[in-house]
Amino acid sequence: MQPLLYFSTINFTRQTRTAMIRIGLTGGIGSGKSTVAKIFETLGIPVYYADDAARKLMNTNDALKQAILEHFGKDSYKDGLLDRKYIASIVFNDKEKLELLNSFIHPATIKDADEWMLEQKAPYAIKEAALLFESGASENLDYIIGVYAPQHLRVQRVMKRDKLPVEEIMKRISRQIDEEMKMKLCNFVITNNEQQLVIPQVLELDHRFRALTCAS
Ligand code: ATP
Repeated sequence: MQPLLYFSTINFTRQTRTAMIRIGLTGGIGSGKSTVAKIFETLGIPVYYADDAARKLMNTNDALKQAILEHFGKDSYKDGLLDRKYIASIVFNDKEKLELLNSFIHPATIKDADEWMLEQKAPYAIKEAALLFESGASENLDYIIGVYAPQHLRVQRVMKRDKLPVEEIMKRISRQIDEEMKMKLCNFVITNNEQQLVIPQVLELDHRFRALTCAS
């Protein structure tokens, strides 16, 4: 992984300039996506947090609720709210069930994010998601920023934040695309390795995206 901010030359010419620029922000578990997203928010940039939105949609989107009830049974909901423990117990060690659940959640979240993007009034807007490539959401975005941190730091951070055993974190890591490969798919990479300053990297990207908006 190359250190510092990496600008890819590919895809840097948008095809359509009419709508606001839509940016994806991704990275592995504990890479610092939310931390970086919050810095963009302080600059006045709206951020869609895909995990939070998906959690909400599972309780509010009728079609999604119906699909979950149909495939995971009536015990999936208690008093109209998703029984997260019950669902987790089903998908925890069953890759196929997890993929099935994701096949309902991802399209609903992509649609919700697309609608949200259309409502934003800002130079650009960001969608923060761990599974941006895995879910297909990257296709609806103009540029993708990857947040990179080495694995040992990511594990340490998540152990501290979520009080999870290392085995559980490794299991989650193994379900995501390899980090180095993910970063190669991104147009820009912010390095959050606790050695390089993050804020200047965010400011530089903010500057680039605002300049693109002005030019359009
Ligand atoms: P997840 O995918 O698990 O939700 P994430 O990529 O959104 O994680 P964050 O929640 O932003 O990551 O960061 C993980 C933890 O590491 C948080 O507790 C955060 O405060 C901490 N952290 C992030 N970046 C740094 C940093 N540069 N220095 C110290 N701690 C950091």
